[in-house]
Amino acid sequence: MMDYIEKIKNFETLDLIAKAKQLSQKERYDTITLERAIFLSWWCDKGDCGFCYMSTQKNKIKDPKSARRKIDAILAEAELCKRIGWNIEFLSGGYDSFTSSEIKSIATDIYDITNNPVWLNTGITEDLEEYGEEIIGITGAVEIANPTLHNKICPSKPLDQIGSMLDKAGDLGFKKAITVILGLGETIDDIEYLIQYIKNHGIDRVIFYSLNPHKGTEFENSSQPASLYYAGVIASIRLTFPKIEIICGTWTDNLANIGILIESGANGITKFPLFKMFGTRYGKRVEEEVKWTGKKLQGTFTDTEKLGIAKSDFNPALDKFIKRYIEESLNNKY
Ligand code: SF4
Repeated sequence: MMDYIEKIKNFETLDLIAKAKQLSQKERYDTITLERAIFLSWWCDKGDCGFCYMSTQKNKIKDPKSARRKIDAILAEAELCKRIGWNIEFLSGGYDSFTSSEIKSIATDIYDITNNPVWLNTGITEDLEEYGEEIIGITGAVEIANPTLHNKICPSKPLDQIGSMLDKAGDLGFKKAITVILGLGETIDDIEYLIQYIKNHGIDRVIFYSLNPHKGTEFENSSQPASLYYAGVIASIRLTFPKIEIICGTWTDNLANIGILIESGANGITKFPLFKMFGTRYGKRVEEEVKWTGKKLQGTFTDTEKLGIAKSDFNPALDKFIKRYIEESLNNKY
């Protein structure tokens, strides 16, 4: 691993990417998935992670229940994801927005709708025994690949508690994932720590994001990580862990990163405002980025016919939300 870090430091990242590409070909990673994180709520009881939009909302929300999304809206989004061939990256919500039994019930319905069990990213919890076949895996929000910075930026979700939850998840038969944001002040040397964390906890899937500087946070004027830095990290993880699943997040102002991240070993891409981008030139751009890597895209970002009709195959109560999301996709001006 040190070799990879040295190569990145010596500006030889393109060599690493070429090796990661070869390895991906050997592993037959020839399809790229589109991933959608489905949010449950705009409330988080912790609300103190330095980069997070929710940290700017905590004092504005008087009644946390009012920030919960309607369950039928959540299920309608899942049904539309199925229609257009997108994976559900995970169900995500701030701390204490839904109870474990409510999350289980939502996940069970999504399993029925999509025929796929669901990943969770709903915070550190002791309640994993409640979950069953509707859940495929548990995600730990590591966020920063540097423990000192982590304590400072995410003071209420200690890394050791995340690690214990993931270990317990593994013992119960669930898969394990972590999320990592690049651009929060970590350095390329911190990737060594990340590698150890992945090894220590037997992680199956890593979801990377590049910093999206939110207004009102301490990072609002920070720059996002450079494309070759991001790609170097992905290539290093791919080369160290040939079998791991890697998902990479970009924002609309970083679509040009997608091609190089796929070349570096990403299996899927995420972090798009789905209904705003669907069918637009931005959605087309994502498809073009994948096309020029020579890989096949699972699902569509442009085929509006796949959105289908404004009637749920699952429950008529979802119809009005399906209609709303289809209209948003067809009328967006993004
Ligand atoms: S725990 Fe998650 S949702 Fe809550 S403030 Fe931190 S990053 Fe945001």
